[in-house]
Amino acid sequence: IMPILECRHLNKTYGRGESAVHALRDVNINFEEGEICAVRGPSGSGKSTLLHILGGLEYPTAGKVFYRGEDLFAYNDNQLSILRRRRFGFVFQAYNLVQELTALENILLPVLLDKKKPDEKYISMLTELLGLQDRLNHLPGALSGGQQQRVAIARALANRPALLFADEPTGNLDGKSGQEVLALLRYAGRELGITLVLVTHDLHVAEQAGRIITLEDGSVSQDSAPTKGGVEHES
Ligand code: ADP
Ligand code: MG
Repeated sequence: IMPILECRHLNKTYGRGESAVHALRDVNINFEEGEICAVRGPSGSGKSTLLHILGGLEYPTAGKVFYRGEDLFAYNDNQLSILRRRRFGFVFQAYNLVQELTALENILLPVLLDKKKPDEKYISMLTELLGLQDRLNHLPGALSGGQQQRVAIARALANRPALLFADEPTGNLDGKSGQEVLALLRYAGRELGITLVLVTHDLHVAEQAGRIITLEDGSVSQDSAPTKGGVEHES
């Protein structure tokens, strides 16, 4: 079976000449459907750059990303943003909620932007799964950090994405709410059959994923479960 997402010979260079930064160097990874995969590595190792390129938010300098066999960067900007909106969800360290909208309005925003009618049953299952039922009419300012991140996760899942990309989602949270958010991410991933790519510099967080990919200086230095048929990685 085809991986849900794969990247081939990804390279990303910022700047040029003497000031060039090689953020990614020949990265090759296959992600299988339903997998929960952590990408870890020290600060500056290229984790966010990789996540942005895998999610079609940023272009590589060289190399390709395939979503179910389709070359992501062969799409035009408009097609790519539609694919992102319908198939991918993103969660970042900063919750990026609209402060003037209630929790529920924030959650529904991507569905409404896609001019679709919200699936009320699914949305209420989602808010229940994330423990947000009695917070739906609150503005973000009235919620704790952990609750705001759970709203951001519900928003990312509102369009029933196939893939969820999370970049240091627990980075702003204390240990306890971080643990909760992480457990919910894993649970939601499993329950909804979503493939999860989770960036973290925290080994403890990474260890809760089914697979850990380690980046060092822009290259994959370790992969706990390289997919069969994938490119062999040196370690
Ligand atoms: P990580 O998320 O692992 O901390 P990043 O992917 O953010 O690493 O960054 C990898 C490298 O690329 C770092 O050296 C960083 O300074 C550099 N970098 C990232 N984004 C940019 C940018 N927009 N312009 C220039 N350099 C960048
Ligand atoms: Mg980062």
